[in-house]
Amino acid sequence: MGNNLIAELIKAIWTYMAEVKEIKIMEVCGTHTQSIAKYGISSVLPPGIKLLSGPGCPICVAPASFIDDAVRLMMMDNVIVATFGDMVRVKGTETSLDNSRTKDKKPAVVYSPLEALEIAENNRDRTVVFLAVGFETTAPAIAAMIRHAEEKSIHNINVLTSIRLMPPILEIVLEKHDGELGGMICPGHVATVMGEEYFRFLPDKHDICSVISGFDAADILGAIYLIVQSKCGDKKPELKNIYKRCVSFNGNEKAKSLMGEVFTASKGLWRGIGLVGDSALVLKERYMKYDAVYNFNLSPRDHEAAMECSCGDILMGKRSPGECRLFDSACSPANPYGPCMVSTEGSCSVYYRYRR
Ligand code: SF4
Repeated sequence: MGNNLIAELIKAIWTYMAEVKEIKIMEVCGTHTQSIAKYGISSVLPPGIKLLSGPGCPICVAPASFIDDAVRLMMMDNVIVATFGDMVRVKGTETSLDNSRTKDKKPAVVYSPLEALEIAENNRDRTVVFLAVGFETTAPAIAAMIRHAEEKSIHNINVLTSIRLMPPILEIVLEKHDGELGGMICPGHVATVMGEEYFRFLPDKHDICSVISGFDAADILGAIYLIVQSKCGDKKPELKNIYKRCVSFNGNEKAKSLMGEVFTASKGLWRGIGLVGDSALVLKERYMKYDAVYNFNLSPRDHEAAMECSCGDILMGKRSPGECRLFDSACSPANPYGPCMVSTEGSCSVYYRYRR
């Protein structure tokens, strides 16, 4: 990637901003938030461009009651809770898996859903509950794991799901911002699975210029350049895909069909945001025997107790981390209060580490 290209993009952005003056652009995905901070992108942009972080950190959006259920399950006899590492430090209503661990009860940290299945295979006398957290990106791997369990008759694996879908939450984001957003940088990973058409509704229904982008500096600057350029003259908002090296028109058909076989869309609770229709993936009837909510008779998660955390506003791009009164006082990476401070892709953690 040439420095020349980067310099040209920055120059062109400054040129167009002489006309645009002010614009708010949301980067939806936590990986973009991290890249923007890592490459110091905000520092080379004109002051009129305000970059806002969106709801694209899967750990951050899992509701507190999801963690509460995971802690309860971990304390049960003959249950092993398996999870990605980041989830271990996220607090539920009162505590986290990490803070609840005892000599005998602790979470098993795994790097993939298949690793959780392996634990179940090797511990047939216990039930392994995998915390299935993520977006459209991780859903295919979780669906593949359920299919493997079925094929290999491993019935002591369960999933506690908090898998979320992008389009419904983006509708809410746009509603909350009520025309204030000038453009959206769409998540390249989600588009890799779902295809560029998945985000067509953004310009078509909401008149917002949207760019599917990769994660290096030139990708992100390219997306900002296209959004700013679209504001000059009388242009119709469009969807642009500048991540064609990974994102095709229709996405990964195999991954999509696997998701469609195992999951169905349902309402889902988002941390600090509330219940959003059709925004979650849950197991289809046929695979219900793997569902921890069903097997352990857990209450459906449809509301959340109010918490002091401002994570909901952060995830909606309505506040920046520095505007939370707990930031860098009661909440820091060493002692996180809210989930946005835990994950390396969480906005508060990124702001803390890079002082973006
Ligand atoms: Fe939540 Fe902590 Fe961020 Fe405040 S600083 S919004 S408490 S994660």
